[in-house]
This record gives sequence, structure tokens and C-alpha cells, in this order.
Amino acid sequence: MKRLFRLSCLFCAFCLFFFSSCANKSQAEISRTDFVLGTVCSVTISSGGTEKTLDEAFTRLRQIDDTMSANKDGTEIAAINGAAGKKAVKVSADTFYVITKALEYARKTNGAFDPTIGPLVKLWNIGNEGAKVPPDKNIKAALALTDYRKVELNSDALTVRLPVAGMRLDLGAIAKGYAADEVVKILRAHRVKSAIVDLGGNIFVYGKKKDGSLWRVGIQNPYSERGEYIGLVTGSQMTVVTSGVYERYFIENGKRYHHILDTKTGFPEDNGLLSVSIVTESSIDADALSTSVFALGLDKGMQLVKSLKDVYAIFVDENDKVYLSPGTNKIFSITDPTFTLGE
Ligand code: ADP
Ligand code: MG
Repeated sequence: MKRLFRLSCLFCAFCLFFFSSCANKSQAEISRTDFVLGTVCSVTISSGGTEKTLDEAFTRLRQIDDTMSANKDGTEIAAINGAAGKKAVKVSADTFYVITKALEYARKTNGAFDPTIGPLVKLWNIGNEGAKVPPDKNIKAALALTDYRKVELNSDALTVRLPVAGMRLDLGAIAKGYAADEVVKILRAHRVKSAIVDLGGNIFVYGKKKDGSLWRVGIQNPYSERGEYIGLVTGSQMTVVTSGVYERYFIENGKRYHHILDTKTGFPEDNGLLSVSIVTESSIDADALSTSVFALGLDKGMQLVKSLKDVYAIFVDENDKVYLSPGTNKIFSITDPTFTLGE
């Protein structure tokens, strides 16, 4: 009797295992959305992975927020900023890596992209309540504190020092890309086959779609609310990151003031571009590049993209013209006829 009981238990366990592995083959999509890194982040897994994968992904996102945000107390960036003009601050290898990458892009763009833009970002306060055009003298003062060449790094001791009181690092243009790459590492470790990582519009499509077809990622229409797009990027295992005038802004006297700042004038970039999207495999590079290329403008930005391998760019300007870097026409097509290809 005992033996029969044991056998039937074994049989039940076998059935459970058998059916759950069948269920796994036609696994339902699992998804989670949360407010992290100052934006709405979601991870949707359509093949492979479990709730534990999502737990790990969101734990990692919160950890990155808790070390790299410039707007929260207790982060490593807040510590560096708080010690400006005084001492060097020891940081984690992750933070050191992201700062090093940001400084690399600052050099590549001659400072059009500059992670020491913190004083200007704080002054303009764009995207937050009560934002208004600051007085000229305050803009000049913040500009004087913006200079990536002054950042002192010690790669042996993993320390960072800002030599002038008032200097502030801001990794807002690069941290989400790093975070997307970190989520991708977790997906890989959990043998996920198919997933979408969306960190406030900073997209990574992982693998191919569950049915084996390619993903199609919409490029946001810069004039409309989220959800409407001007065209589609088709591919697999790629990140699509956009910097645009529509992301965070305020309007004063009929003029739009958006959140990508010109490190020469201290005002929002006013170069005729509405958005720049970068498509590549590494999200930290795509994020840094979308801001860098936007800040450089169409001509210099296009030159920078052309100098890089496996990087594609889509520019949209205020005349509704779309400019593509070489090869981008193979992966992107316009779907909204209001927009046409520029020369
Ligand atoms: P989003 O964060 O909305 O996706 P971006 O990646 O383009 O957009 O980053 C914009 C953010 O980067 C700003 O909110 C600000 O924190 C920071 N920033 C603004 N101008 C610059 C600049 N010239 N260089 C580096 N960072 C910048
Ligand atoms: Mg960016």
C-alpha cells in the first residue's frame, strides 16, 4: 500500500513536471512595470525566464538608480557632487565605468556632450514643476562650472574628484543605456530567448520575437503624445534610443525649452533638430550617442555616426525631413507620409 502510494506520488510529480514543461513551451508572456531611474520602466519576457528574472532585473535597476542618480540623496554621484572642490570620492566599479564612458563621449564631441552639465541641469530644472528661463547671470555661472576636462579620475583607487566647488556630475544622458545593458545581461544569464526592455522609451529588443520573426520598433513622432510613430526600425537583438525635444520641456512666451542643453550657450539646443534616434547593439553607447549627436547637430552628428561601426542614426528636423546615416535605409522605413527623406 505504502509502495503504491509512493508510486502514485511519483506519477503525480512526473505529470506536474511534464505538463509544466509543456506549459513552458507555450509560455505566456510575463511583464513588469515600475517607476525607476526617474521614468517608467518595463520588462516583458515572451520566451524563457521566470518571475525571478524580472525580480533580478528590477533589483538591478533600483540599484543603478540608488548609485548613479544625481537627484537623490545618498547616491555615489551625490557624494561626488557634495565633495566638489574638496576631496576625491571612492565609487563602485560600475559608477566608475559609466563616468569613464561619459567622459569618452565628451572628448569625442569636444564637450557638446558633457557629464559635468549638472549645474545647468539643476538651474533649468526642466521637467519639474515651476521651471522657467533662468536669469542670464545664473546661466553664465553654471556654464563656468561645466567642463569635463577638469574631472579627476584615479582608475587604481576608483576615485572621482571634481576640483571646483559647485561642479556637478549628471549621468542623465547615459545611465539608462547602461541600465538597459545590465538588464540584458540578466536576461542572458536566465536563458531568456525573447524580451523587450523599455526604460522610458530607451528600448532594447532582445533576441527575436517569439514566433521567430523580427521586431519592429516605432520611432516616436516628435509632435505627438507617446504611441504615434513616424516609421519603423526592423531587426533583432538591438537597442533603439531617442533624444528629442518632446521628452521633457516647458513653454514660456510661446517658446519651447527642452532638456538637451547647449554647453556653449547654456540654453536648450536650438539647431533645427526635433529628435535623433540611434540603433546599435550596446545601449550605453546608443544613449550617450543619441544625446551627443543631437547636441552636435545634423552635420557634425552625421560625421560622428559615420566614423562608428554598426551604428545607425535617424534624424528628424523641424521641416519634417528625415535624414538617415549610411545603411539605415535597410532597417528603417517611414510609415507617416507627413515625413519625407531629406537630401
Ligand atoms: P532622456 O533622458 O529623456 O532619455 P537623453 O538621453 O537625451 O534623454 O538625456 C537628457 C538628459 O541628459 C538631460 O535631462 C540632462 O540630465 C542631461 N543633459 C542635458 N544636456 C546634456 C549635454 N549637453 N551633455 C550631457 N548630458 C546632458
Ligand atoms: Mg541619451
